Parts: sequence; C-alpha cells; structure tokens
Amino acid sequence: MKKDYDVDVLIVGYGAAGANAAIAAHDAGARVLIAEKLDVGGGNSAVCAGAMVIPESIEAAIAYYRALSSGTVGEEMVRAFAEAMVGIPDLLSRLGLEFTAGPPIPPSFPSMMSGRLKQIHIDPTGENGFRFLDGQVKDRKIEILTDTQVKTLIQNPETREILGAKAQRNGQDIQLLARKGVILTCGGYAYNPAMLANFNFPGATDYIFSWGSPGNTGDGISLASEAGAALWHMAAIEWGRFCAREPSKKFGTAIGYGLGRTKRAGSYMFVNKFGERFMAEDALLSHCKEQLEILRYDHGNAEYRNLPAYMIFDQTYLSRGPIAPTAQMLRTKRGGIVGYCLVNKIYDWSADNQAELDEGWVLQAETVADLANKIGARTDVLEKTITEFNRACIERCDSLFGRNEKTLAPFETPPYFAVELGLSLVNTQGGPKRNVNCQVLDHNDGVIPRLYAAGELGSFFGFLYQVGSNYPEAWAFGQIAGKMAATETPLSE
Ligand SMILES: Cc1cc2nc3c(=O)[nH]c(=O)nc-3n(C[C@H](O)[C@H](O)[C@H](O)COP(=O)(O)OP(=O)(O)OC[C@H]3O[C@@H](n4cnc5c(N)ncnc54)[C@H](O)[C@@H]3O)c2cc1C
Repeated sequence: MKKDYDVDVLIVGYGAAGANAAIAAHDAGARVLIAEKLDVGGGNSAVCAGAMVIPESIEAAIAYYRALSSGTVGEEMVRAFAEAMVGIPDLLSRLGLEFTAGPPIPPSFPSMMSGRLKQIHIDPTGENGFRFLDGQVKDRKIEILTDTQVKTLIQNPETREILGAKAQRNGQDIQLLARKGVILTCGGYAYNPAMLANFNFPGATDYIFSWGSPGNTGDGISLASEAGAALWHMAAIEWGRFCAREPSKKFGTAIGYGLGRTKRAGSYMFVNKFGERFMAEDALLSHCKEQLEILRYDHGNAEYRNLPAYMIFDQTYLSRGPIAPTAQMLRTKRGGIVGYCLVNKIYDWSADNQAELDEGWVLQAETVADLANKIGARTDVLEKTITEFNRACIERCDSLFGRNEKTLAPFETPPYFAVELGLSLVNTQGGPKRNVNCQVLDHNDGVIPRLYAAGELGSFFGFLYQVGSNYPEAWAFGQIAGKMAATETPLSE
C-alpha cells in the first residue's frame, strides 16, 4: 500500500476525545498521528461549557446511569462508564490540569435517584480545556494534520482488520498507514441534515441549528458503517434552548441561542403559526425532552403543528435590553462564553436589538392584528392568546402551562415584536457501537479488529442524558481507546 504516513495509531478528529486518545497512545509507546478535517482542532470540545458532572461513588453512579440508559447499554458498559466518570478527577490530576471541585449539584432527573447520588462540578471552560490538551499533545511532539478529512478506512477484506485510512489534505489524496489501529473521535452529526432527517426528525431539519462545531457532519458514522459497524443511540440527541431562525439560516449555525432566557420577567411568549401558546416559556429546554413540545406532530394534517413558531413580546420587554444572551452577558457568568457562534465571534446579538430589527430578523408591528398578519396567524386567535396571558399575569398564575409567575409581565405596550424560533441542537449521541475497551463492534457484537471509537461519536447515552457528561466521557474514553490501541501487535511490513 502507498503510504504518505506510517504510524502505529491514527486518530481521526481532534477534539477532547482525539487529544486524550493521542496522549494515552503516545504515553503507551505508540507513534501517533492526528488527522483533523478543519483548519483548527477543538471541535465541540473547544466551544463547550466545560462542565464535568462527576459522581462521587461508583455504586450510586451505577444505579443512576443504569436508570438513565433505559436499557440501551449492558451492565458491563454501565459499570465501565461509572468507573470512568468517578475516575475523572484522578485523570485530570495525572495530566496536571488544575481544577476546583464545585458544590454538590442535584442529578438531572431527581425522581430517579434522589438522595442516592452526590456529584461534584468541575469546570474549566471548553476553550481552556482544549488549550490545555493541545499543549499536552504539542509537548509530546505528536503530529497533527489539519485540513485533513479522512474519507475512507482501509480494511483487509478477509480479516476485516483496519489498516489505515485514505484522506484528503488540502485537496490532495493521501494514504495513512496505521500499524496498530485507527481511533474514530470525529464527533457527531449535528451538521448533517440528511442524517438528522433519517435518524431523528424528518421534515423539521430546516428548523434545527447546531450550537457546536461545523466539523461534526457524521463522517464517523459513514466510516464505521462502511467497515461493518453496528450503530447505536441514534435516537438520542441533546436539545438546547431556542435560537433565532433567520440569522441561524444565514450563518448556518445557532444564532441568538437562549432567546428569552435573559433572566428578566417579560411579556415574551412562544406562539405557533396559529397564534397559540404551546409550552411554558421558562422550561429548561436544555438537554430535556420539553423541546419536543415544539415538535408535536399533527398526523391528520401531516405537519408539525407548532412550526413555524415565534417569540412575541412588547416594547417594554424590547427596551430592557438584548432579547438573547450576548457575549458580554455570558462573560460575567460562570462557564463564560459558549457555543461555536460566540466563541468564534461569528455574530453577537446587539445590546438594543436594533441591528436585528434592521435586518428584519425581529419583526415589528403597530397592532396585534398587524402582528398576527406578520406571523401568518388569525387575529382573533392571537388576541385570545394575549388576553389569556395577560390574565395569567394579573392572577400570578399561568394555569395553561405553569410558567413561573416571577417571569410573567403583561403584553401591553405597542409596538409589538416577533422573532421566529429555531431549535438549537447541542450535540448528538449516536454512532458506532463499542465495547468497554472502545473497540467498534459489528452487528453480531464481534470486534472489528484494530478499529476504536470514543467521545460523542457513539456515546454511552442512548436515551436520557446527565448534563455535564459528554465532555468528561470524551476525556475518559479517549484515554481508554488510546491505551488499548497502543497495546495491539503492529502490522508487519
Ligand atoms: C455549545 C456546547 C456546549 C456543551 N457543553 C457541554 C458541557 O458543559 N459539558 C459536557 O459534558 N458536554 C458539553 N457539550 C458536549 C461536549 O462538548 C461534546 O460532546 C464533546 O466535547 C465531544 O468531544 P469529541 O472529542 O467526541 O468531539 P469533538 O470535540 O466535536 O471533536 C470532533 C472533531 O472531529 C473532526 N472531524 C470530523 N470528521 C472528520 C474527518 N472525517 N476527518 C478528520 N476530522 C474529522 C471535527 O472537525 C472535530 O474537530 C457541549 C457541546 C456544545 C456544542
């Protein structure tokens, strides 16, 4: 085979999982090469909030993760995952990363576990965390090929062993020989509308925008599938809060993430195309299934009943400041600036919303009838919605959806405004099925020799997700994959 590079372990994708795999494989004595498709590494890992939610006790963690997984993984994997998560503080210390343990936080799904699970919270931001990992990789002089997209794996048709990969580097075809193995750490498929339609929400992908890195186009799913891998956890995707659809379409990534979540009481409400509210606007949304309210499907009319949807509000709310969190607002908060758009300075919401009004992303109307017309709703329906909302404000009780009374303020001061909602996708969980050693499995649970995967590509999470877990998962299982690949017997000449 022609070989432009001849190494022991090839790592496909340079985020937290790839960096950890590279470090572990290198430290176990392997010659390592990293291929990264974008011009800079980091992936979702470098734009994430960096929250690591770690259980303190393995036994409590096993019970909790078993409940979350809802039968999508076996007992051996549940235990391995619990051990890996509990081991995170040791891993960070071993790597020399300083961190502080935060206060215990409640589990995301307290009804499952109340009182049985304590957790600590560790948060370098994703940007800082990746800077640290990048330094570790560079200290070890591990070669990183950026602008290098792995296109296919090279597989022995008889033994099914993975021998390396073919890639495109700055438009040139190159071949990469990996004598011990290939580790796929190339993230999820949030930027692949065809996969989102196939695995998740057909007919709604025009409304879905990733909050993460544009490199995550599901390449790992195609690469592993071609090599005979079984897929798992394709139905599990992590929703974030709503964003603004029009600018998100323009920039191809979630813009205005967290509309309405500015911690101010306000007249804002979410309405569907009929002008009806459909959910409590203060619902957490992030990582929860509440996002699915907007994706309620009307079988009789063969349409998503609540799409398109809008956030509507009055002049009083608009005057109080930006309707979506800005970089300045986030800078002052724990966790700091998050998301591909803000970390990479693609678009920042204006402090007075004027730029978005000028662009026509925020629509303005002088009357409720005019507002109804602008969003394509019936005036009488929208008027009824607003009357009911204002009654809830007076009664301090949202009897329809149970929104917290402290967030309610009447919709009354013209002009009125509407911004179309987009759904933000934090990340996907699906990918090639793997065992506790991160070896990729075929449809009979047999190992595909010399093929490994780690990180959010084929994550542990198959249904419910514990907030703050994908990031530490990428670190811990990247390490396992790197260590295990390095133990393979090298292919001879
Ligand atoms: C905005 C945001 C906030 C988040 N916050 C948190 C949080 O606080 N806590 C938490 O636990 N999780 C969080 N997550 C999720 C978490 O960040 C990710 O799941 C995790 O970092 C994924 O790491 P990874 O190494 O598997 O993938 P990534 O970091 O996404 O890296 C994958 C890399 O592979 C590259 N690649 C793709 N295809 C190819 C190819 N064919 N050839 C070469 N390279 C390729 C990509 O360009 C990318 O650089 C967040 C995610 C986002 C988007």
